[in-house]
Order: sequence, then structure tokens, then C-alpha cells
Amino acid sequence: MDIKPFEKKVWLASPTMHGDELEYVKQAYETNWMSTVGENINEVERLAAKSAEVNYAVALSCCTAALHLCVKSAGERLYGKPAIGHGALEGKRVFCSDMTFDATLNPVVYEGGTPIFIDTEKDSWNMDPIALEKAFELYPDVKLVVSAELYGFTGRMDVIKEICEKHGALLIEDAAEAMGATLHGKQCGSFGDYSAVSYNGNKIITGSSGGCLLTNDIEVANKARKWSTQARENAPWYQHEEVGYNYRMSNVIAGVVRGQYPYLAEHISRKKAIYDRYCEGFKDLPVKMNPIIEDSVPNYWLSAMVIDREYMCRQVRDDSTALYVKEEGKTCPTEILEKLASYNAEGRPIWKPMHMQPMYRMHEFITRQGSGRAKTNAYIAGGVADVGADIFDRGLCLPSDINMTAEQQDVIIEIVRSCFK
Ligand SMILES: *Cc1c(COP(=O)(O)O)cnc(C)c1O
Repeated sequence: MDIKPFEKKVWLASPTMHGDELEYVKQAYETNWMSTVGENINEVERLAAKSAEVNYAVALSCCTAALHLCVKSAGERLYGKPAIGHGALEGKRVFCSDMTFDATLNPVVYEGGTPIFIDTEKDSWNMDPIALEKAFELYPDVKLVVSAELYGFTGRMDVIKEICEKHGALLIEDAAEAMGATLHGKQCGSFGDYSAVSYNGNKIITGSSGGCLLTNDIEVANKARKWSTQARENAPWYQHEEVGYNYRMSNVIAGVVRGQYPYLAEHISRKKAIYDRYCEGFKDLPVKMNPIIEDSVPNYWLSAMVIDREYMCRQVRDDSTALYVKEEGKTCPTEILEKLASYNAEGRPIWKPMHMQPMYRMHEFITRQGSGRAKTNAYIAGGVADVGADIFDRGLCLPSDINMTAEQQDVIIEIVRSCFK
């Protein structure tokens, strides 16, 4: 193949700045609001709530912090206030997305809860509502579900919410990747009793870091704001009745986020153009791109693909390495990712499912068929038995950087195509 490596690396997803960000940062500097208070923070909260169509947003240092306060809030509402030194979910099981970033559910563990993983739906790559129903059959005592949207392509969050309501459970929606995406015309980040979005450096808009907790409940918002600023009571001195955190967003970071919000729609349309170009470039290859379910509009954050099983060459992965055996006309994510890297382009494997992670390997995992742990052990022994493991095996994220040119993307497409030779 007559292609030279890219001189400048083509990234998976890098920040895209526009200039307004710097003005708001400068404003913070010039007015000396160089702290966790200021106009930028107030504006981020207003913009985030408006954009997600919820009543309240609380600006925090990151989405993981937002998810922690969601989990803590839900835990206290469900089970009461824990004693000092104890988690709000101690000894409680929580149903969690399986194929996601571990930040989705680590906060459950911070609060002493035990994640039970729900398998992924083949048609949406998100939490499978049928597996979730199965989970409630097996564990009717569970009262909390944490569900994430994958790569900005929503699953059936409306159905998941209905199932939660039917079983008297609360829903936490991790919309870190899905800001601006909609399902049935409703914004991602507005489905959960508590939701969270992220402004991490590689998300659809960014503050370099940061996140917001989203809710329609003013008491939850006020509580989160209090907890995030060390849980001070209303008194002339530092008075404390409960444990606090230092989770508030900085007014400098908020300046960047504030400057980015007006560009959310533009970023989405540029991400969509990238996705559409891949669909066109791969239309005669035995691959499928991220699924778009009916009546949903993704934000197209990361374009990802899976290789049809018949076109997979042999690939094995342990906890840190991957090997494959090249076969004519066949390929695998490892070959494609290595090839992209050799041309100075960044791809990424699909999120390795949580039930396959060393730290969560002993946790319960529920598929449509019921308890899936036995089948998972079969996977470890070399078989593929559940949807998450299957997508992880055959899938990868493609370079989806807004700053990638159409010409560069055409080269990426050629590189991927060459792997099927
Ligand atoms: C990025 C991400 C997070 C964490 O966001 P931070 O702002 O970096 O803490 C959580 N969940 C998912 C699904 C993510 O992709």
C-alpha cells in the first residue's frame, strides 16, 4: 500500500477550541474570580440545564464526581443516611451497564455498593432492557440502576426508565458520552432521576475537565452543591454535620465550558459527517457501524465498527496482550488498531466489558438467559458467549477527531480496507 504515515497524529477525539473560551477564561482572570465561585460557573449551570432540558445542573470537577454525588444522593434517598465512615449503598446490589467506561460504576463501589452487570443489547450496544427485566426477576430487592449511553448512540433509556419505575427503582443516567443526543426527541441527560455529563478533554465539548450533575429535583441540586463544597452548614464558622467533598468546578475551567456550549450543535454535525463518511467508505466491507435505534439522534461522538464474525481471523487476548493469526480476506480489531498506529492514527478497542475486568470478575453478570457467569467463564476459556464479550471481541473505535480532514479520513478508510485483503 502506497500510503505514508500521517505527519501529525490523527487522534481518536481531541479538543476543538474556537476562541470564545479564552475570552471567558480571561474574564475570570481579570475580575479575579480565580476560584470555585464566579459568573462562568453560574453560566455553565444555566447552559447545561437548558441544553439537557432539565431544571437544574450542578457544575463539578468531573463527571465521575457528578456520578458519585448521584449515587450518594440516590443511596440516601433509598436507604437513609449512613453513619459516618459508612457508604450510602453498603451491602446493597446495584444494576449497572456492563460495556462502558469504569467511571460509570466505580462510584457505586465508593459508596460500598456491589455492582451487578447487565449485558448489552445487540441492536443498540447499550444496556439490554430484557436482561434488566431478568435481573429484577433474580434480584427483586435491587432499587438502583446505573445506565450509560455508549459513544453518543443512545439505547432504550426510556424503556429502562419504565422498568425501573415498575420495580420502584431509581435510575442514574451516565450521559458522559451522549451530550446533545436525543431519544424520541428527549435529550440524553434528562432520562435519569439523576444524570451526569462530562467535559473531559476528549468529549463532544470540553472544559479540559469538568462535569455536571443534572436533575429536576431542587433538593438534590442543593444537596450536591453543598456536598461538593465540603458540606458546610449555614453558620458564621466552619460548621459540619456530614462528610463533604472538594468537587466544585473551577471558574477558570467553567470559562472554557461556557465558551464551548454554543458549538455543541456544530460539533455534533461534524461528528455526524465523520460517521457518514465511514459508513460510505465501508459499505461493501463485512462490518457494521454503531447502531442507531429508531427515533433516536446520536451525537456521533465516536464512530465504531464491528467485523462480521465470518471475517474475523483468529485473535486471542489476555489481560494485557493481544495476538492474532492473519488469514486472507479476514482481519480483527488488533490488526486494524496496530495498522492504524503504524500510520500514526489513534483507534481504540471497544470498552472492555466490566464483567471481564479482573476487579469485577467475581461479580454477578446477567444476560437475557439469566445469570451469565458460567458463560463468561467459557469466554475466558476461549469461547464467546455474551453480547458484550462478542462486541469487544469484534469491535473497535475509529479515529473520530473533529479536526481530522476529509482527506485524512479517506486515508484511514484505505488503511482499514487494506486489512481485509
Ligand atoms: C468520560 C466518561 C466518564 C468520566 O468522565 P470524567 O469527566 O472524565 O470524570 C464517565 N462515564 C463515561 C461513560 C465516560 O465516557
